[in-house]
Amino acid sequence: MSTCDVCGSQEGRMFTVSMGGQTGTFDSFECAIHMMAPACEHCGCRILGHPIEIKAGVYCCTHCAREAGNAHLPGHAEHSTVAVVPPANSGP
Ligand SMILES: [Zn+2]
Ligand SMILES: [Zn+2]
Repeated sequence: MSTCDVCGSQEGRMFTVSMGGQTGTFDSFECAIHMMAPACEHCGCRILGHPIEIKAGVYCCTHCAREAGNAHLPGHAEHSTVAVVPPANSGP
């Protein structure tokens, strides 16, 4: 019988996660995330999506990377420069 590496539970559907040579046994994704997911260097939250990896560390978003003092980010530049143009005045 396998045991969850995080909470020690032996119940439920146990599964293993392998990442970078490290393997863990878990009973839930919550436990797997607790042990395996990288933490943002700036805000400390668990990164569940694609991390922003730069020399200085790993961040959950470009905002955190920039707040941490990395003004020049490679690759993941933000493209959300959608200009919201107000409707032209159609009145008299
Ligand atoms: Zn667990
Ligand atoms: Zn963050």
